Amino acid sequence: MIISIASGKGGTGKTLVATSLALSMKDADRVQLLDCDVEEPNDHVFLKPAITGSEAVSIAVPKVDEDRCTYCGKCAEVCAYNAIAVLGNHVLIFPQLCHGCGACSYLCPEEAISEESREMGIAEWGQSDGVSFVQGKLTVGEAMAPPIIRRVKEYANNDGTVIIDVPPGTSCPVVEAIKGSDFCILVTEPTPFGLNDLALAVETVRELHIPCGVVLNRTGIGDSKVEEYCQKEDIPILLTIPLDTEIARLYSQGIPLVEGLPQWKNSFLELFNRVKEIVDERNRDTQR
Ligand code: SF4
Ligand code: SF4
Repeated sequence: MIISIASGKGGTGKTLVATSLALSMKDADRVQLLDCDVEEPNDHVFLKPAITGSEAVSIAVPKVDEDRCTYCGKCAEVCAYNAIAVLGNHVLIFPQLCHGCGACSYLCPEEAISEESREMGIAEWGQSDGVSFVQGKLTVGEAMAPPIIRRVKEYANNDGTVIIDVPPGTSCPVVEAIKGSDFCILVTEPTPFGLNDLALAVETVRELHIPCGVVLNRTGIGDSKVEEYCQKEDIPILLTIPLDTEIARLYSQGIPLVEGLPQWKNSFLELFNRVKEIVDERNRDTQR
C-alpha cells in the first residue's frame, strides 16, 4: 500500500506525520519512507538514516546542430514549456525550463536536434532503525522537481507499506508525488489559511481519484471551519494533534514525536488501520 502525506501549504506538520507514521509501523510491517519533498527534504533530520548509496538524476535536453537547422520554428511550436525559441537565424534553448519530453527532437524535420544529459539533483537511500529510506535532492538553482520525484518513486518496495512525503502546495511536483497512491493523508491546521489550502489539496487528490483523509494539527488554535468543511465534503478526520509546547520542542530538536512521546505510537497505528480499512473497502467496491 502506498500512502502519500501532503498538505496544501508548507509548515502544517507533514514531516511530523510522515516520520511518526513510518516509525510507528516499523515493527508491524515492512515500511519504507520516500522523501519526495525534493526542494527541501528534511525527513532525514528526524530519521537520521545511514545513507548507503546515491545516484545522479539527469534529464535529456535538446542540442541543436545549426548546420542542419533551417530555422523553421517547428521545435518551438511543439514545446509546451517554452523551453526553446527560434528568433531569426538563432535557436535559443532554456535548459531550466526543459522537461526532457523529447518532442522537439522527435518532430524536427531536419533531424537537427540531438540530446545531451543535464544533471538536476540526486537520489539517495539508506536505512534508519527498521525503516527503509529514500530521498531526492534537487540541486540548488534548478526548477524541475518531477524527474527527481519520479526517480525516488522507482525505488518503492512492492511488498510492504510505502509512505511518501509530498512537496507542499498543489503544483506539478505534488501531482507527480501523489499519483499512484492508494490513499492521501492531508495535513492541515484549523485556521483560514489551513482551510483554504486544504480545499485546494482536496481538489487535486479528487482529480487524481485518490481517497483522502485529514490529520488536523495544532488543534486548539483558530476555529472549527476545517471540521465543518470536512463534514460537508465527507472527508474523515483521522487524527488530531494539539498545539503543544512539548511537541514543538521535540520537533525543533529533530526528535520524532513517537520517540519523544511514545504514547503517540498507538495513535499513529490507529491512523494507519483506519487508512487500511478505507483502502480495503474501496478495493472491495471496485472488484464488485
Ligand atoms: S525544428 Fe529543427 S530545423 Fe526547425 S528550427 Fe527547430 S531545430 Fe531547426
Ligand atoms: S525536450 Fe520537450 S520540454 Fe525540452 S525543449 Fe524539447 S519539447 Fe521542450
